[in-house]
Order: sequence, then structure tokens, then C-alpha cells
Amino acid sequence: MIRLGWIPANIDDNSHYPMHQAIADLLETFNPQSCPICMKAKIRFYYTISEFQPKFMIKNGQVRGTVWVWCPNCLHWTHGSGTQLPKSVTYVNELEESEIKKVKGPYIIDNLNRFWEKGRLSESFTVI
Ligand SMILES: [Zn+2]
Repeated sequence: MIRLGWIPANIDDNSHYPMHQAIADLLETFNPQSCPICMKAKIRFYYTISEFQPKFMIKNGQVRGTVWVWCPNCLHWTHGSGTQLPKSVTYVNELEESEIKKVKGPYIIDNLNRFWEKGRLSESFTVI
């Protein structure tokens, strides 16, 4: 079932900076923290190699991708592109190729959230 009402973080409702800070915190601790807006749920996230680049774009030996973050409580979401993971950190994408294709599109956050609730997304990065 599609859950509508996801709110893109933007400057007008003061959610832009907190949600981008949530990305920064996630990429610093490699574990989801509490939502910086409502503080009532842990941030959920998904990391993917950019579809506009070769499957594994390597720059200086590191992979770049996009991270999506969203809050299941207050429904704010955003994403950050060009994010680089340290060599010691990986994200295990457990989705099948066909599922990855289904994620995309106008309902991306809703799709990601449903995969999260089914336990199909990694809930933390793997730090070696
Ligand atoms: Zn929230």
C-alpha cells in the first residue's frame, strides 16, 4: 500500500539543514541516529551507487553514491549525492536487481520504506 504524505526536506519548513545534518551524522557514525526534526524515531536510510555513473565509480580508490534518508514518524526525507564511503566501510545492498528497479520513480521514499519494513534493507553500514 502506498503511504502518501512524505515531506521533502526544504528550507521553507526548516527541515533542509537538519536532514542534511542527519546525512552528515550517518556518514560520520555509520549508524542511524534519531531524527533531528521530531527526535521520535531513528532515521532510515538507503545507499546506492549513482545510476548516472558506471556501476562502481572509483575516485581515489573510493566509491561514490547517493544516500537517501527518511523519518518514519514525521515523514521528512532528503538525499545527498556524491557521497563517498571510506574504504573501511561498505553498504550491503540486499535488494535484487528487479527490486532496485522498482525502488526508483516518484514513490521512491515510499518504496524504500516498504522494503525497510520488510527487513530487506541494511539497517547499518558495515565497518571493517
Ligand atoms: Zn522525524
